[in-house]
Amino acid sequence: MERVCPRCGALSGSKKFFGDFCENCYLDTINLKFPMRVEIQTCKMCGKVRVSKWEELNKANLESIVKKNVEGNYDSFQVSHLGGDQYEVTFLVSRGSNYFEVKKRFSLKMNKSICEDCSRATSGYYEAIIQVRGKNTQRWAEKIMRELRGRTFVSKYLELDEGIDIYVGSKKEAAEALCVLKCKPSISDKLYGVKDGRRVYRRTYCVRV
Ligand SMILES: [Zn+2]
Ligand SMILES: [Zn+2]
Repeated sequence: MERVCPRCGALSGSKKFFGDFCENCYLDTINLKFPMRVEIQTCKMCGKVRVSKWEELNKANLESIVKKNVEGNYDSFQVSHLGGDQYEVTFLVSRGSNYFEVKKRFSLKMNKSICEDCSRATSGYYEAIIQVRGKNTQRWAEKIMRELRGRTFVSKYLELDEGIDIYVGSKKEAAEALCVLKCKPSISDKLYGVKDGRRVYRRTYCVRV
């Protein structure tokens, strides 16, 4: 016997039915809420976004954004970029032995801000200086700059008669970059202040190339 969807009047001969309702009306009963627009902070200087920390926008933090903003139950989901600031999430929702796809579109609104690293870099902050000395300073300074990129920021780059000085935001990252490049720097520390009762040193790595 043909059934009639009580909500829209569709006939079971022309559409799939779940319980009393046609497929479309049944999908409407899956109560999954997602905002049309999600706002996040983005750094106007380096383009990183702030989700839990400042980082590049990628699959993992897009997924955190979805989890943070969805209301309702689902089994899994997938995010795809539609272009520009438009994204679509496809939620997989199970009801009994059936699975349904619920699609939600949203725009990602980037509110311009400035990340900690960029604000430190523009204020001239540094924890370490890498001094490049010797014959091939230019080539080695470029290698070091490449290795530092993505690790930390460089707040100053000085070409001097005696070589090149690179002012670096993190002494730990400076050491790791030099280690990757198999440079064996000589290290000296200079006291530059006291913070929370602790002496703070700036470190100089001198690399002979
Ligand atoms: Zn219906
Ligand atoms: Zn930044």
